Amino acid sequence: MNGLIMDYQLTLPAILRRAEQLFGRKEIVSRLPDKTYFRYTYADFVRRAKRLALALQKLGVKSGDRVATLSWNHHQHLEAYFGVPSAGAVLHTLNLRLSPEDLTYIANHANDKVILVDRVLLPVLEKFRHNIQAEHIIVISTDGSPAPEGMLDYEQLLAEVDEKDFVYPEIDEQQAAAMCYTSGTTGRPKGVLYTHRAIALHSMCAAMADVMGIGETDVVLPVVPMFHANAWGIPFVATLTGAKQVFPGPFLDPESLLDEFEQEKVTLSAGVPTIWLGILAALEKQPERWKLAKNLRLPVGGSAVPEAMLRNMDIFGITVIQAWGMTEMTPLGTFGRLSAELQDASLDEQYAMRALQGRPVPFTDARIMGDDGEIPWDGKSMGELEVRGAWVASEYYNAPEGAGRFTDDGWFRTGDIVTIEPSGYVKIQDRSKDVIKSGGEWISSVDLENALMGHPAVAEAAVIAIPDPKWQERPLGIVVLKEGRTATQEELIEFIAPKFAKWWLPDTIEFIDTIPRTATGKFLKMALRDRFKNYTSPAAVSSSAD
Ligand code: AMP
Repeated sequence: MNGLIMDYQLTLPAILRRAEQLFGRKEIVSRLPDKTYFRYTYADFVRRAKRLALALQKLGVKSGDRVATLSWNHHQHLEAYFGVPSAGAVLHTLNLRLSPEDLTYIANHANDKVILVDRVLLPVLEKFRHNIQAEHIIVISTDGSPAPEGMLDYEQLLAEVDEKDFVYPEIDEQQAAAMCYTSGTTGRPKGVLYTHRAIALHSMCAAMADVMGIGETDVVLPVVPMFHANAWGIPFVATLTGAKQVFPGPFLDPESLLDEFEQEKVTLSAGVPTIWLGILAALEKQPERWKLAKNLRLPVGGSAVPEAMLRNMDIFGITVIQAWGMTEMTPLGTFGRLSAELQDASLDEQYAMRALQGRPVPFTDARIMGDDGEIPWDGKSMGELEVRGAWVASEYYNAPEGAGRFTDDGWFRTGDIVTIEPSGYVKIQDRSKDVIKSGGEWISSVDLENALMGHPAVAEAAVIAIPDPKWQERPLGIVVLKEGRTATQEELIEFIAPKFAKWWLPDTIEFIDTIPRTATGKFLKMALRDRFKNYTSPAAVSSSAD
């Protein structure tokens, strides 16, 4: 027997309509390229999102057409987040940090019909524009200057339509609302196509007290780019809840961000660990300079959060909460809140738990798979994490070569090697391709990296596998020292030694100037492996001699 409840469609226009009815007077703030602040209200934002939808339809954009953005985090990008799907089209966020080759491939593969581009990002577009088929380029500018020849002007298009002509569309919740390409470190980028339903449910989940905990009284500033996994869904969550929204524009340096946190009384921000390492260094240098909101929370993810960061941020009253997710998961997968059971645990125990990636969020199932099937959640056994859930991709867009990531029984293979505590806390040990296998046993490079980053002289650390004649692979530590600090290899190895079995410890540490990164800020270990591929450690020399 079926229940008797309406089949209400969970869509982005439904979120927009609610924002219009309830939060019209709430504020949205954006940092402009000239560093001044732009302010308007939710009422203005909704009006302009509707105008964008109408303007796109007038240009011939039809249901399902892809409309791309090449933009920083700002209010017009938010308008596109809602305006494009409200026209029935698919918002495709292009990652401006990718190479022109990748951008060409992605824009052509997605068959983008229109591209919205920030005036300040025209030089990025110029590098691949002649290789793509988009019918219209729309330039977003903030200083009133006209669009270059052959391109359209965003403000002018909006001025030529009237929001009163906009009618909220009847959209099926299973229709595509947005798409984003994974910036995989191997193979071609692959497209993930989000449904309206997935984004709506993901937003409700992210808003929950035990997840991001975003409410109407919050002031939210996503540092994570709106071109990466929908800024972790934060603009959608904030609009659903009516939180004040603050956008940093192109200014992601620690001082600009801290100024904005202080001025706008930001209560929730989010981004990858690299950003917060910079913020910490600025705070440590001038501890009295910024008066931040007392309840500032920071969901941090994208790569592992070193325990030292949790501890050091606490000193400044900033609560870091670790999250794990993937572009393929809209992107939230786990969230690292302390459970009731852990509230009275010792501080050390609490930090150890907070350094894990957290427990699966609602409507997301997790399992660990090994060579011989499913592996227990005992906190020790390692295997590949597989997930399924209400906002997990069911396949890649037009990419049969990615089919192997989806199992026959309906799970997505994350490529992350994990252990899971009996209490459900997931620990990411490695990417499957980064894991180090020494003498047949696995060594977690992430664990070693986090321990090294706990040393006061270390700015960043990566650990990779290098070939070893006796053990097949051994870990090599690669360290960037903080400016003006020194440390020797022996000192660093001694520092981390108490935390690990002896055979886990790197035999050698190399010091370099910077660690190469992917377009989304993760360590590019492939480049490091390439750089050190002929490396022979002193241990290997001595082991092959004996
Ligand atoms: P992306 O799709 O670019 O967001 O990358 C997803 C990948 O980032 C995951 O599969 C993990 O390998 C990594 N990742 C994300 N969050 C974390 C985290 N908190 N700790 C360790 N790795 C993470």
